[in-house]
Amino acid sequence: DGARDGLRRVTPVRIGDVVFGLGSVPVIAGPCSVETDYVKHAVAAAEAGATVLRGCVHKPRSWPDRFQGIGDAGLPLLAEARAATGLPIISEPLGEQDVERLVPYVHGFLIGTRSMYNSRLLQAVGRAGLPVILKRGFSATYDEWLGAAHYIRAEGNEQVILCERGIRTFNTEVRNTLDISAIPVMRSLCDLPIIVDPSHAAGRREWVAPLALAAVAAGADGLIIEAHPDPDESWTDSRQALHPHALKAIITSIDGWPS
Ligand code: PEP
Ligand code: MN
Repeated sequence: DGARDGLRRVTPVRIGDVVFGLGSVPVIAGPCSVETDYVKHAVAAAEAGATVLRGCVHKPRSWPDRFQGIGDAGLPLLAEARAATGLPIISEPLGEQDVERLVPYVHGFLIGTRSMYNSRLLQAVGRAGLPVILKRGFSATYDEWLGAAHYIRAEGNEQVILCERGIRTFNTEVRNTLDISAIPVMRSLCDLPIIVDPSHAAGRREWVAPLALAAVAAGADGLIIEAHPDPDESWTDSRQALHPHALKAIITSIDGWPS
């Protein structure tokens, strides 16, 4: 039944018709940002075996003079990508005002690492009723992360998936340090599915596959990976973007993994 000593049974969460927490390892993929060619990017991710699409039209950037996302102009592209692939789409609201505007175009929300402590935003996605992938703040303790999940659940929305995306440490080669321990630890503390984002942990495309496979070996309920047909030309996070061939290689190697 998937339960191991000291680890809790996972209550599955569904995004569209894709179930997280039932033993398989669905892969969410797509470019970091929705770009003008998003539909092509979405089709490439689908052909590589992704079963949920990233469709981020708002980007949380460290500097205000950098590209902030395509914004509302990307919403019709989400609808087109949905029509072209049939896959469910997730997107990141940066503020409460983004939530209702995204609802007609998405099947789930992504709460980014910088927003984990934004309790008003957590409540807003809780009220929206769609499934929520809650990324761990890059310096958040397990308890703070769990508390953030409870802000969503307290609004009556039980459909929360945790996402480990790396934390800040003394390491400087990687963008963040992937905390593999988060998988068994959170498994012992709650019944939420937990997925892993190896892309923002690695920061470099050559390190994405080893981190992805380590996450699966540790029992992750899914992965979220950045992929782009012309990785170096990605509008954001180009250094960590995988070519669809590399994405497909990961998906093929975890296919049928008995977690
Ligand atoms: C992203 O998914 O592109 C992103 C900004 O991730 P994080 O919030 O983990 O930095
Ligand atoms: Mn990114």
